[in-house]
Amino acid sequence: MSKILIVDDELEICAFLKEFFSERNYDVVTASSGKEAIQLVNRENPHVLLLDIKMPGIDGLEVLKAVKQYHPNLKVIMVTAVETSDKMAEAFKLGADNYITKPLSLEYLERDVKEKIFKLI
Ligand SMILES: [Mg+2]
Repeated sequence: MSKILIVDDELEICAFLKEFFSERNYDVVTASSGKEAIQLVNRENPHVLLLDIKMPGIDGLEVLKAVKQYHPNLKVIMVTAVETSDKMAEAFKLGADNYITKPLSLEYLERDVKEKIFKLI
């Protein structure tokens, strides 16, 4: 089963995405902070990470930097509220695989997650 780790400081978004992907037979784990996200990547070894950029404390870019160091094959899709091109340029430099803007298009997101997992197999 494909495993996704969803990271967002907004708990409703975690719950909503967890339900969406669980219904589609993904194994879903959620984290609401950057610190928790780093711990869960190491413990759960997900295939795909959906990572909110803007979070208090350790933000998405810092999480990305930390996890890519030890998990270079982990596929990371950044989630951002507004199109911030400087942040995205930095994210791609740090190894992000794609990004999606809020409000989330679930159809697009599901397609992208599938594609990322397909590339791993
Ligand atoms: Mg946020």
